[in-house]
Amino acid sequence: MKHFISMQQLSKETMNQILKEAELIRKSPKTINKQLFAANLFFEPSTRTKMSFEVAQRKLGLEVLNLYEEGSSLIKGESLYDTAKTFEAIGADFLVVRHPSDYWMDEIEEEGQLNIPVFNAGSGKEEHPTQCMLDLLTMYQEFGNVEGKKVVIAGDIIHSRVAKSNARALEKLGADVYFSAAPGFEDHSLPFPYITMDEAVEIADALMLLRIQHERHIHKTETDDYLSLYGLTMERAARMQKHAIIMHPAPINRGVEIDTRLVESKQSRIFKQMENGVYVRMAILIHVLKEWGIINENDINECKALNII
Ligand code: ASP
Repeated sequence: MKHFISMQQLSKETMNQILKEAELIRKSPKTINKQLFAANLFFEPSTRTKMSFEVAQRKLGLEVLNLYEEGSSLIKGESLYDTAKTFEAIGADFLVVRHPSDYWMDEIEEEGQLNIPVFNAGSGKEEHPTQCMLDLLTMYQEFGNVEGKKVVIAGDIIHSRVAKSNARALEKLGADVYFSAAPGFEDHSLPFPYITMDEAVEIADALMLLRIQHERHIHKTETDDYLSLYGLTMERAARMQKHAIIMHPAPINRGVEIDTRLVESKQSRIFKQMENGVYVRMAILIHVLKEWGIINENDINECKALNII
C-alpha cells in the first residue's frame, strides 16, 4: 500500500487484516520500539479524529508533532505540498492530514513527491477512511461479519465523506447498503437505494446517522422539522429490531438527526465507535509503517493481554 487515502484502494483482505489487528491491539496493546515522529496536519476542525490519532500515536510510543494553522506559514500562503515536504525534511516519519479539498492528495502528488507515508484524516466531502475502519470494527464486534447485514446510512449524504467511505467499503464487504436522506441531501452518483426513515428503522441491522454538514452548504439549512421528518425520534427508535445498533460519527446535533435521549441508549454504539477509533488507528499505523519498511516485526512490542472481552 502506498499512502492510506481511500477505502477504494483497500481490498477486502486488507480491511479484514487491519480489523483483526485492531481487535488484537484492543486486547493486548502494542508499542513501537523505535524513535519515530508523527506529524499531524489538520486544516479543518477536528476533535475526535485528531485526538484519537494522537492517543494512538502516543500509545504506540511515538513522538507527536502537531501543526496549528494559525501559528504556521500556511497563513503566509505556503502550499500543502511545501508544508508536507517541510515535515519530511525535518524528520517526520509520516503525516496525518485533514484538509477541506476533496482530492488534496492528488494535488500534493501533482506538485512533487513525498517519500513518507500519508494518512487521510478527512478529505472534503469525499473520504474519511480511518472513520470508516472504526465503523467497520464496531459492526464486526457486533455481528461478527457485515455480509448480508442491512446498513442504512441516513442524513446529509451528498456532503458527507463518512457516508461515501462507508457505503463503498460496506458494499465491497457484502453488506446491503441503503441511503435515507432529506430532499437535496441525496447523492445520485452512488448506486444505493433510498428509503424513508420509517422504512429504515424497520429493516436496519445498523443505522448510521450523519450530521448535517452546515459548513459545506451554500445556503443555511433550516432544521426545525428535521427530527420529526427525517431523524431518529423515540417513536421510530422503538420500532427498530432488538439487535439493531445506532451509530453516528459525531459531532452529534442532539435533537436534529437524533433525539438526545437516544445518544447513550442501550442500542447506541456512538461512544464505542470513538473508543474503537484508537485501536483501529494504531492498527492502520502499524500496517502501513510495516509495508513501507519503516518498522518490522522486531520493532513491535506486545504488552500483556488485558482482561477485556
Ligand atoms: N467527524 C466526521 C467528519 O469529520 C463527521 C462530521 O463532521 O459530521 O467527517
